[in-house]
Amino acid sequence: MRSGGRCENPLCAGQPEDVKENGDPILEVDHVLDRARWGRDHPIQMIALCPNCHAIKTWGRTGERLREVLFFEARVRHSAWCSEA
Ligand SMILES: [Zn+2]
Repeated sequence: MRSGGRCENPLCAGQPEDVKENGDPILEVDHVLDRARWGRDHPIQMIALCPNCHAIKTWGRTGERLREVLFFEARVRHSAWCSEA
């Protein structure tokens, strides 16, 4: 809901315009930090990413840098979303 159907990576180079069979956006909700290490199941720690950004975060050489960006972005978006509700 918070993402408004768009990838939450502020540096996203382009989310697929296609949607899923049910009309939902093609987004993957992921933990900003590796849950096994220190992530927790809370919206402040979660981010909706398009498949491209998800792959960069998981496999890319710039994944660690992106993680830092997303960590900050998730906090900003979470507080903004809470103050709207
Ligand atoms: Zn993206």
